[in-house]
Amino acid sequence: MIPKSHPRYASLKTRDLIVSGVKKGITSLHGLIAHGRGEAFDYLIGEKTNDFASEAIMAAAAMLLLARHPVISVNGNAAALVPKDLAKLSKAINASLEINIFHESKGRQSKIKKHLERFGATNVLLPKKNSKIRFIESNRKFVNPEGILKADIVFVPLEDGDRTEALVKNGKKVITIDLNPLSRTAQKADITIVDNITRALPLLINAANHLKKCDKVKLKMAIKDYKNEKILRKSLKYMLQNLP
Ligand code: ATP
Ligand code: MG
Repeated sequence: MIPKSHPRYASLKTRDLIVSGVKKGITSLHGLIAHGRGEAFDYLIGEKTNDFASEAIMAAAAMLLLARHPVISVNGNAAALVPKDLAKLSKAINASLEINIFHESKGRQSKIKKHLERFGATNVLLPKKNSKIRFIESNRKFVNPEGILKADIVFVPLEDGDRTEALVKNGKKVITIDLNPLSRTAQKADITIVDNITRALPLLINAANHLKKCDKVKLKMAIKDYKNEKILRKSLKYMLQNLP
């Protein structure tokens, strides 16, 4: 039991979720390392949602609502940390969730699917061996023909750089959540939310539910002036300026 008064309560609870994801067989051991890298950057942004993240969240919500066929890609870390919010976002923007993991495992894929469904997800797709995207060699090339293959916008929280690059080369627009503004994912995506997925996802759901009431012209306006390089620069500047 972690006492609520512990100064690192939120961070320790999040670690517990990742560890229990590994124990349940939905998160890979490598996912623990990825999480640690994220935590280090979370320190540098003060473990809070900053304006560079809020701006990206509004643009991401607008882009997802304008999409013809949006898909949310889910890996073992995202599933362990925010299963309920992934299910909620899927409903808010009317998009499927599609499992896509680096370390090939049929068992893990179906465990992630069941885990998401336990938290309310109703539209979870798995990759198919007869359907793939180009420019990527790993297991992650396999996609669902009704999901990522068809998608115009793919939301890929906590993504690997190779796959982000491949998705972009396949003509998809990519939205990510990544605490590291220097990662290849953060650099290659069209919209990068530099924030912890546990804080950013509830805000993205709220933004989508709010913007849903607006007409398309207003949504287009919300993304017209968005520049991801500017957002990444802002986040790095924040990190550097706040060093003691
Ligand atoms: P890239 O492949 O994009 O260059 P990488 O190899 O450093 O990045 P990966 O392990 O491929 O990292 O992807 C995981 C990414 O997710 C990392 O950039 C990490 O900072 C980020 N990350 C980990 N946990 C979280 C979290 N809870 N919230 C947001 N981002 C996170
Ligand atoms: Mg990587």
